[in-house]
Amino acid sequence: MPDIPKTLQQYLLEKLEGHSESLQLVMMMADIATIGKLIAAEMSRAGLTGIRGLAGSMNIQDEDQAKLDVVSNDICKEYLAATDLFAAMASEEEDTAVDLKNSRAQYVIAFDPLDGSANIDVNVSVGTIFSVHRKLEGVPAGSDKQFLQPGRDQVLAGYLIYGSSTMLVFSWGDGVHEFTLDRDLGEFFLSNDSLQIPKECKYYSVNASYEPFLSEKDRAYVKRLRETGATQRWVGAFAVDFHRNLLKGGVHFMPSTDKAGKGEYKPKLRLNYEVKPLAFLAEQAGGAASTGKEDILNLQPVSLHERVPVIIGNKKEVNLYKEVT
Ligand code: MN
Ligand code: MN
Repeated sequence: MPDIPKTLQQYLLEKLEGHSESLQLVMMMADIATIGKLIAAEMSRAGLTGIRGLAGSMNIQDEDQAKLDVVSNDICKEYLAATDLFAAMASEEEDTAVDLKNSRAQYVIAFDPLDGSANIDVNVSVGTIFSVHRKLEGVPAGSDKQFLQPGRDQVLAGYLIYGSSTMLVFSWGDGVHEFTLDRDLGEFFLSNDSLQIPKECKYYSVNASYEPFLSEKDRAYVKRLRETGATQRWVGAFAVDFHRNLLKGGVHFMPSTDKAGKGEYKPKLRLNYEVKPLAFLAEQAGGAASTGKEDILNLQPVSLHERVPVIIGNKKEVNLYKEVT
């Protein structure tokens, strides 16, 4: 009998022994793992749905495929409403926070249900990002305010990647743990107990086509990154680019852009659904995440769908930004 790696549940029960929120964390991860399996199943059918759509011409399958963002969002929402751990959910796909009507629940969860969804059309990896906070007392469950908490206060954060295999990567503040889904068994098995970003920054991820729309300082920073000798890599799904950089060493730069040429620089990535959770993992893996001016985890969010510029990955390369003039 070969060595069988630990299942998610086994691992958590062992690791969380004596932790004050152990039961809640085990249950939360079970919910998130199930959501991941449900979305992974939808993703793996996405190509097939397209083929059927062409063959069946008039049926609505084609439209369904284009709306996988919504399908993933509905999976998150409906599953969490049917369980009782989370008081509220916020998502890129929802205008406001959603009260899940779980009156005794003590946590709230924010999702990017499908990160990099444009990749679906071309069979390239996508992800789901999640961020959990304690529910604020004295604030209605469905209030956006529940989600305006600094990243440093996250109880749990992580992502799923739907690629050549489905992976679950997360942290509750005790390192970064990686699990891989065995599709046949429907079980997540431990594949890395403690991910640490390698010392050497092998890659930098920048959307090079945005360069004409960057501020002078941001352009100078991209130049500096190039001079480090790192190689450019860009998948176009934040969680997927982050995952590669986490495993191999790398830095991801998503600056504000002025595409209209009016001197108004606008950031792209969302603080509460994308940036905050990955910043938590970066720090837990020995890396860093910054807007260029401030540590992401110290930011006080001011609105639910707020966007921020981000530099995330190897600490030295993140800090290089401050040296650029
Ligand atoms: Mn996204
Ligand atoms: Mn999305």
